[in-house]
Amino acid sequence: MAESTNGRMEKLVSLCKRRGFIFQSSEIYGGINGFWDYGPLGVELKRNIKNAWWEDVVRKRDDMVGLDCAIIMNPKVWEASGHVAGFTDPLADCKKCKARFRADKIFSVTARDGENVLLQAGVEADDEAHARAAATAAANSKTRRRLEQHAEAMVWEVCRGDRLPDGVAARCPLCGGELTDARKFNMMFKTFVGAMEDSSAVAYLRPETAQGIFANYSNVLDTSRLKLPFGIAQIGKAFRNEINPRNYTFRSREFEQMEIEFFCRPDEADKWYEYWRDARFQWYVGLGLRSDRLRLRDHEPDELAHYANACADIEYEFPFGICELEGVANRTDFDLTQHQKFSGKDMAYFDDESKERFLPYVIEPSGGVDRAALALLCEAYCEDEAPDEKGNPQPRTLMKLHPRIAPIKAAVFPLVKKDGMPAIARKIYEDLRGAGLSAFYDEKGAVGRRYRRQDEAGTPFCITVDGQTLQDRTVTVRDRDTLRQERIADDEVLPYVRERVG
Ligand code: ATP
Repeated sequence: MAESTNGRMEKLVSLCKRRGFIFQSSEIYGGINGFWDYGPLGVELKRNIKNAWWEDVVRKRDDMVGLDCAIIMNPKVWEASGHVAGFTDPLADCKKCKARFRADKIFSVTARDGENVLLQAGVEADDEAHARAAATAAANSKTRRRLEQHAEAMVWEVCRGDRLPDGVAARCPLCGGELTDARKFNMMFKTFVGAMEDSSAVAYLRPETAQGIFANYSNVLDTSRLKLPFGIAQIGKAFRNEINPRNYTFRSREFEQMEIEFFCRPDEADKWYEYWRDARFQWYVGLGLRSDRLRLRDHEPDELAHYANACADIEYEFPFGICELEGVANRTDFDLTQHQKFSGKDMAYFDDESKERFLPYVIEPSGGVDRAALALLCEAYCEDEAPDEKGNPQPRTLMKLHPRIAPIKAAVFPLVKKDGMPAIARKIYEDLRGAGLSAFYDEKGAVGRRYRRQDEAGTPFCITVDGQTLQDRTVTVRDRDTLRQERIADDEVLPYVRERVG
């Protein structure tokens, strides 16, 4: 199982590089762990996801406004929010080989029949070579087999791996050495503001966009004349010095979030929590994530953060495991209470009708743009067969991206570079672009090759101008997924594509 799923992931990673979706950051210098760049197709995909989110949660609603805050804020924000004291992961080092692990991600491989064997495998081992080394080092063949399976998974991360049973001391999965006690590691990136590099100049790159919303809550309320319930939405970069970034872009050190803080009366918080949990789930379904790979998981009471009284994760079954795409939480009045306390500013809401003053409760749907993009890419990756020019079936790779988020909506080809075909094709291409639809013009090489390039880019429609176009002004439209071709009038192309892109 592990091999085929990781094989699938490797193929996707390679396609993303080959076609310009995602590159390793500063690759020419050997890269930098946990940072990624989006190429020409990737940036369009990401922008389309963000635009879809903004359209759906801000522009189409009359109870939501947007915000765009600075990445660096007064460090008191992070004291009030609890990040300075508590935004930590447990970190353990091997005393022998000095490898570093996230202590809560070291998990055990136990023989199911209750036999003796108990080996620890570090899910967060730094790379595939280390993970495989752990597997090979395992003592007996039965354990080795089990460990090898896990080693495959380790390459990508087991998101909800087993925890070590109580009383079992973890040992280094690489060399078997003793591990240090876990110590807290704060994941906020520190920097200095101004010329002095002393403690008075310390500031942080925000680890989430949410606190900027809370810090501006009164500004927004005073300037927009909103009444409860209402929400404030923000898309922006967040930074976390993750101990082990992994699983491609899934766990990065720099990423983008799409967050909503939805303020409501405390007695309506349960209702709004359920509303947002279901609405956010459906949003991903609407963008093409198949419902059986997508799931909604309510947190157990002992999983809840101290500030939340309800939380659900929208999870997706990635090739490397079932992992969180977005969390929806009822954060009560925790954040406004904290900021009121630390800033000394009154954050109470005055209800004109009931004449009550109170701190609103907050429902927070918090998702990651990069994780949404990765899930959509994983979902879209397909291999099938398509006939070549002679009608013989050939393997093809295609990205079945939903037309709404596909980087290129339509590609336009003249069948050959003569008889006026390029001029007609160019006109169609210009009309599409003029209407704000991203389009691609290609006249080079065999048409079959041009189709296949667009299949890999996830372009839903290819329009070809051919000999018949010269006679009756019709063109063929080829559907990426079904391979069905239909003829439509050349002046019908724009409405045809626009209608399907939505
Ligand atoms: P995880 O448990 O996976 O570390 P989290 O529960 O800490 O995630 P939140 O703090 O709730 O995540 O952040 C909200 C969203 O931001 C997540 O659902 C995810 O989509 C995104 N996100 C968080 N950390 C990262 C990261 N390191 N890389 C990419 N996206 C991230």
